[in-house]
Amino acid sequence: MALSERILLGPGPSNPYPEATAGLAAPLLGHLDPEFIKLLDRTCDRLRATWGTTNPVTLPLSGTGSIGMEAAFANTVRPGDVVVVAVNGVFGVRMCEVASRYGAEVIRIDHTWGEPVDVERVLAAHPAPAIVAAVHAETSTGVESDIAALGAALRARSPETLLLADCVTSLAGIPVAIDEWGVDIAYSGTQKCLGVAPGLAPFTFSERAWERRVEVPPVWYLDLSLLGAYVHGTPGSGGRVYHHTAPTAMIASLDAALERIQAEGLDAITDRHRAAGTRLQEGLQEMGLELFAREGHRLPQLTSVRVPEGVDSAKVRERLLNEYDIEIGAGVGELASSIWRIGLMGHNARLDRAELVLAALRRVLE
Ligand code: PLP
Repeated sequence: MALSERILLGPGPSNPYPEATAGLAAPLLGHLDPEFIKLLDRTCDRLRATWGTTNPVTLPLSGTGSIGMEAAFANTVRPGDVVVVAVNGVFGVRMCEVASRYGAEVIRIDHTWGEPVDVERVLAAHPAPAIVAAVHAETSTGVESDIAALGAALRARSPETLLLADCVTSLAGIPVAIDEWGVDIAYSGTQKCLGVAPGLAPFTFSERAWERRVEVPPVWYLDLSLLGAYVHGTPGSGGRVYHHTAPTAMIASLDAALERIQAEGLDAITDRHRAAGTRLQEGLQEMGLELFAREGHRLPQLTSVRVPEGVDSAKVRERLLNEYDIEIGAGVGELASSIWRIGLMGHNARLDRAELVLAALRRVLE
């Protein structure tokens, strides 16, 4: 079956960096091959640099972004723990669901969708929760929340509380500084701004979180102690112990993308995302369309735009796909048919992509 070459301008996956595609085609290595272990060590180092952390427990988990969310709660929640979750979109709702499955007493702080997380309200929810969790870049609404401010306020008020940030759509698209912001647990996904196919969840866990981890998590596959014995080696000998058959081709692809990201430089990359997103958002407004997310908190890498009155949202997406090979996203949850989501992530965070989708959309809406 011949597959179409799509231009992936939805909420993810995005088109991978060419280096990531080449990485996938490199000779396949076994997960315990010394050459692969060297590559894995380098990938973890490159992830630390990308996250802005020195956390020893920093690794690519085998699975999509949601496995990062699962690992975050599986390794930290004990039944009855209070977990405050800031909810301003679909992925905050998902965090509530996942945390509650591990027995957390979830306090859900709902925000109007399209608005950023309100630090004061989140802090007022409980004097000393075990965990406070928030989504940095809410892909369902296109909103950025201020994790730095949340971290600073939390440290001043409840130093014992662990801070968990979902960085699935933010890492390598907008600035992320795990150590500086005081984030204890964070996860991402490879298919967004990292510019790799879906399949891995970069994950980082602070030493504070490690001291307070659940020693035997209820999910064997995501037990960070067992994973660490493979990914980072056993204490003392450093030897690697088989845990699961790591997806070596995907890790080689991630490693190649991270090398490319470091060569370009994180500042240049975030500038590139900002320039492309700003152009797209300006162009949509020039067309008379209304942006959904609150001004001043709009993500450059994911733009949410209201479907104009009387326009069939699905039909427009279908025409973009069939006539122009361009994928954009519908809304999710309560916004399913009322917004479109246009992503300019990773390799697609470019002015030419912004102009292309604007021109195609203009044609389809004529
Ligand atoms: N969190 C956010 C903010 C996301 O955007 C996504 C996916 O779009 C996820 C979590 C879940 O990731 P995945 O679909 O890769 O499992």
